[in-house]
Amino acid sequence: MNSQIQGKRALVTGGNKGIGFAICQGLLQAGFEVIIAARSLDKAKAAIQKLPANASVRAVELDVTDDNSIHRAAEQLSQDGLDVLVNNAGVYPDQGVNILNVSRSILQQAMSTNTFGPIHVTQAFLPLLQKAKLARVINVSSGYGELGGLSADVPSYCLSKLALNGATIMLAEALQSQGIAFYAMCPGWVKTDMGGENAPRSPEQGADTAIWLATEASPDLSGKFFRDRQEISY
Ligand code: NAP
Repeated sequence: MNSQIQGKRALVTGGNKGIGFAICQGLLQAGFEVIIAARSLDKAKAAIQKLPANASVRAVELDVTDDNSIHRAAEQLSQDGLDVLVNNAGVYPDQGVNILNVSRSILQQAMSTNTFGPIHVTQAFLPLLQKAKLARVINVSSGYGELGGLSADVPSYCLSKLALNGATIMLAEALQSQGIAFYAMCPGWVKTDMGGENAPRSPEQGADTAIWLATEASPDLSGKFFRDRQEISY
C-alpha cells in the first residue's frame, strides 16, 4: 500500500471482468478507493463479491455507449473528486469479416464502445477529474491500434483503437494546462473472454502497465502510448 495514494479514488469502466477487474484489484492493492463501473449494477456487485470483504470498493452502473447512463454515473459520484479514470470497456466485433465486407453496424458498434465511449466518459467525468490534484486518465488501447499493427481482417477493432489513440493525444493536449494526464496503453494478448484461451498473458500481467500509469508514471509522459511500462510508437 502506497501512503501517497491513501484517500484517492479510481473508476474503471468494464471493471467487472477480465483486464478491467484485474486493474481494479491492482488499484485496491495500491491503496485507491475503487469504483467498479459495469453496464449493469448486478455485474458490478457480483464482481465486488469476489474481492475481500473489507475492500474499499463500490459499484456503479455505466454503459459507455449510452450518454444517459454515463451522466447518471457521473452525477451519482459528483460529491467527490476522481483521481484516476481507466477507460477499459471494449468490444471486438470482427468475427469473420474484413475491411472489404465489414458492415456499418459493426463499425459503429466498435467505434461507439471503444472510441466514443472513452471520449464521452472523459467529458462527463471532467468536473470530477478537475477536483483532483494531478488526475490521470488511462485509455486501454491495443497493438491493433498501432499504425504498424493494422490488420485488414480486424477492421472495426483496429480503426476504433487507432482513433482512441488519436483521442488520447488530443485530450492530453486539451487538458495539459489543467494538469490532467492522458495515457494510452496496450495490455498485450491476454487470456480473457475477448483474448481467448490461447493468449499467453494473465489478466494481472495485462493490467500491470495500467496500474503503473495510475500510480507511478510521470505526468510529463501525458499523451504517450505504452506497453510493458515502456513508451511505444503510435
Ligand atoms: P473482456 O473480458 O471481454 O471484458 C470487456 C469488458 O468491457 C467487460 O466488462 C464488458 O462488460 C465491458 N463492456 C463492453 N461493452 C461495454 C459497454 N457498452 N459499457 C460498459 N462496459 C462494456 O475483455 P478484456 O480482454 O478484459 O478487454 C479489456 C480491454 O482491453 C478492452 O478495451 C480491450 O479492447 C483491451 N485489450 C484486450 C486484449 C486482450 O488480449 N484481451 C488485447 C488488447 C487490448 P460485460 O461483462 O457487460 O460484457
